[in-house]
Amino acid sequence: MKFPKLRVFLSKIEYNVRKLQELCGREKIEIVGVTKGCSAIPEVAKIMVKGGIKTLGDSRIKNIKRLRKNKIAAEYMLLRIPMLSELQEVIDYCDISLNSEIETILALEEIAKKNNKMHKIIIMFDLGDLREGFLLEDIDRIARDLYNLQRIKIIGVGTNLGCYGGVLYTTEKMEKLIEIGKQLESRLKQEIPVISGGSTASLGLIEKNEMPQEINQLRIGEAILLGRDTTGNRKIPYLVQDTFILQAEIIEKRRKGSVPQGTIGRDAFGNVPKFIDKGIRERSILAIGKQDCQIDNLKPLDEGVEILGASSDHLIIDTENSRKNYKLGEFIEFQMGYRAVLSLTTSKYVNIEIVN
Ligand SMILES: *Cc1c(COP(=O)(O)O)cnc(C)c1O
Repeated sequence: MKFPKLRVFLSKIEYNVRKLQELCGREKIEIVGVTKGCSAIPEVAKIMVKGGIKTLGDSRIKNIKRLRKNKIAAEYMLLRIPMLSELQEVIDYCDISLNSEIETILALEEIAKKNNKMHKIIIMFDLGDLREGFLLEDIDRIARDLYNLQRIKIIGVGTNLGCYGGVLYTTEKMEKLIEIGKQLESRLKQEIPVISGGSTASLGLIEKNEMPQEINQLRIGEAILLGRDTTGNRKIPYLVQDTFILQAEIIEKRRKGSVPQGTIGRDAFGNVPKFIDKGIRERSILAIGKQDCQIDNLKPLDEGVEILGASSDHLIIDTENSRKNYKLGEFIEFQMGYRAVLSLTTSKYVNIEIVN
């Protein structure tokens, strides 16, 4: 089985890693290389390490286990707040985790004690995006309840914006985080060396010279993998974007009308479809579908190809305006965004080809 095939261009990803290392290195900011966007393809993680990244971050322990199994030498950071039901694995497989629940941190301490291990945590604060994080008013409670940890080392404070609420990173948000770090240092009477100031969407602040110098860590996925910043709605101009290409095979090619015939009910996903009559058009069906890929995040490389829609296993395209004469059994190529890479690497029906 050759298709559908996701081609991964390692040297392009490496280019992004090196560019970002240069940019962040100048500001003395450590990059945590985030692998979850490609379901932790080991070759991709390896390229990050080769490019100088020392810590790899992923939201899923399964992914971290996979990378460890592949003997990729790095520190591993769990990005998603741990489930109470996975704390043993957190201690076993992760060096660092991001946390936002006292109860979870205390339970981690117990397990670390039992296993005679040390575990590092970064305490997350919600600065307005309404995803994970303590609120400012929790600082008293944190200082009181986490004062005497033996096996858990609080190494930093962090925040995550741009993900749920779409809140942008600004100098003010960064300064708030720095202030929180200082408060916690004095309340806990210990040094808190890491200020983890966000993700790909934080890069804009560095570019504009608006990143406070106390910020010394960013957790970066999308910029490395795709050279894009979805929250900022931009291609990052000094990075490359054509790092992943999908090839899907044509299983039917035919001229057909552009409006369905019959009484219209619901489509395969329960939606009422709408159509514009463009007359008889040349169409192809490709062997890939919504089960494998977030289709709306694909973009055909051939400008004469238009995506019409998809069901679970079929992607329907219009090739009327293409200069090429595609044949049955040939493939059509697509560029993609983060959601498409995420879904394609999650699907067990898609073959991954690593291109050096
Ligand atoms: C996914 C994730 C990141 C990386 O985000 P990108 O936008 O891909 O750079 C950073 N931090 C946390 C907590 C995450 O879950």
